[in-house]
Amino acid sequence: MGKKEVLVIGGGIAGISFAKAIKSSENLNVTVVTKDPFYISGPSRPLLLTNEQSYHRIIRGYEEVGQSGINVVFGLVSSIDPGERVVKISENPTKHSAKREIKYDYLAIAPGVVFDGSKIEGYQKYWWKNSNVYEPGRVDVLKRKLWTQEKGVAVVYAPKSPYRCAPAPAETAFAIHTVLSHRGKRGNFRIIHIDGNEKVQPPLLHDIIKERYEKAGIELITNKEIVGIGESEVILNDGEKVPYTLLAMLEPNRAPAFIKEAGLGEAWVEVRDPKDLRTPKYDDIYAFGDAAKLPFPKNQEIAYESSIFAANKLLEEVGGEAYSITYSFVGWAYVGNLEGELRTESLQFGLNFNTSPPKGSKDATPKNDYTSQKDSWEQSYLNRLYHNAI
Ligand SMILES: Cc1cc2nc3c(=O)[nH]c(=O)nc-3n(C[C@H](O)[C@H](O)[C@H](O)COP(=O)(O)OP(=O)(O)OC[C@H]3O[C@@H](n4cnc5c(N)ncnc54)[C@H](O)[C@@H]3O)c2cc1C
Repeated sequence: MGKKEVLVIGGGIAGISFAKAIKSSENLNVTVVTKDPFYISGPSRPLLLTNEQSYHRIIRGYEEVGQSGINVVFGLVSSIDPGERVVKISENPTKHSAKREIKYDYLAIAPGVVFDGSKIEGYQKYWWKNSNVYEPGRVDVLKRKLWTQEKGVAVVYAPKSPYRCAPAPAETAFAIHTVLSHRGKRGNFRIIHIDGNEKVQPPLLHDIIKERYEKAGIELITNKEIVGIGESEVILNDGEKVPYTLLAMLEPNRAPAFIKEAGLGEAWVEVRDPKDLRTPKYDDIYAFGDAAKLPFPKNQEIAYESSIFAANKLLEEVGGEAYSITYSFVGWAYVGNLEGELRTESLQFGLNFNTSPPKGSKDATPKNDYTSQKDSWEQSYLNRLYHNAI
């Protein structure tokens, strides 16, 4: 029997974790197709705003992934034909393949999320008024505004769940408070967090964040969605208009459109079960990470854990030893610095999905040490996945 071809869409946390987990099988050839010749880590991006993080520490290339025996192709996946077992890709300036189509025996889908503002009225016209921590260039724009505006209203928005990284909107609001306080301009600004959910996410931290918002003078509006944006105001679903000079809105999230077009799900890729991550219709297609429809938050630990459950299922079929894995995580949420020192404090929290209902844990006292722990955690992921560190 010849080797089976496994094609992984997405060279992020989930895709590379999966590729590395299955490459030990001598029965598989592993190819990762990903759109950019670099990966930019998410978790510490809010600290770019306070100058506590810099891009060079969170960007990685794929050269050492290639060296580890995984074939890496750069290109944007535009469609999947599950019947023909073929994926179409567009050209990328870093050409590692002249191919526009890649055939597979097994397909693994892990392209993360798309930020989709198309249902927000005025978004087409005013998208450029928005800047947030979710994409590299947009962080720069937000940072410039934050460090140069003299007075105004900063509006931060979290859409209805599920979206990538539950605490990131609150982290953004706290970073804004920190920088404005540091600049001595906090008194000239209102900071308003609008949330499409009943509670600030993750719900486990709602009470602590609300209390700290009160201390920081950050206004909180929950259970309301932004349905329109204009040049200097956003419109909520009850008709209320909220003015802004600085808008940090996270658009609703979904998986890339090629998934729906291939009949693999609506907003997210359907899977059979969190531990059997094959799609309901196709035994040879797996999905995991943020793009998959899972009953868990969309974060890095769940992305990793789901990728290992998927790897185990495939190894069970083709031969290979299973990895030990469960769904549970410890995470950290940045909660700024109330005094305006550029030394962000963080909360630690955890969720264990092995019990029903899931068991939460948290430390209600913000600490600088938790910010350092989050940095070590993020760096160890990047070094393990992109530098082949153990
Ligand atoms: C600002 C921010 C803060 C965050 N904070 C935290 C945190 O504190 N804790 C935590 O646990 N998680 C956090 N996360 C979330 C974490 O980064 C994600 O959950 C995790 O990266 C998901 O992994 P993934 O592999 O599914 O997606 P990604 O890591 O995004 O990887 C997807 C990959 O697929 C590629 N891709 C996308 N579309 C295509 C396509 N059509 N064709 C080819 N390639 C494609 C992308 O370029 C990318 O390389 C944060 C994320 C952000 C952005």
